[in-house]
Amino acid sequence: MNALSRFFKSLFLLELLKGLRLTGRYLLDRKVTIIYPEEKTPQSPRFRGLHAQRRYPNGEERCIACKLCEAICPAMAITIEAGPREDDGSRRTTRYEIDLTKCIFCGFCEESCPVDAIVETRVFEYFGEKRSDLVKSKQDLLAVGEQHEAQIAADRAQDAPYR
Ligand code: SF4
Ligand code: SF4
Repeated sequence: MNALSRFFKSLFLLELLKGLRLTGRYLLDRKVTIIYPEEKTPQSPRFRGLHAQRRYPNGEERCIACKLCEAICPAMAITIEAGPREDDGSRRTTRYEIDLTKCIFCGFCEESCPVDAIVETRVFEYFGEKRSDLVKSKQDLLAVGEQHEAQIAADRAQDAPYR
């Protein structure tokens, strides 16, 4: 019986017709795919992309080297060394690195930061040709922060009632 049914199915191209019926059903539907990179999907203000270090409007870096982000990071992706700054003796990081090959983008670092210094931006289009390209230094992170500060500030203002 099974062999007979298979014979008639193949004789009348039933599987092909079933496939064409499915194609026809979605032919005129609203498209759910996008043409990346020309088109992009909407992003949440809480999107967790590339990290950034922020500065205050007067240019002072926010980070006070408390090391809470380093302590909470479950992937041990953050490395911090700290000491007093030469000109005013305030405690600052002398080394702040995030190894993005370890990072799982959980957002714990930004949640733990008492001064909103380390944040995750909407940036997801970045790459490295070798592993060391994905170890972001303090200067790299500050540069990302400077470039995207307007978006970072707007996102955090929008999200503030839920924090
Ligand atoms: S997002 Fe998570 S894993 Fe990545 S550096 Fe921050 S705390 Fe660590
Ligand atoms: S980024 Fe925030 S949590 Fe991490 S050391 Fe600096 S002030 Fe502390």
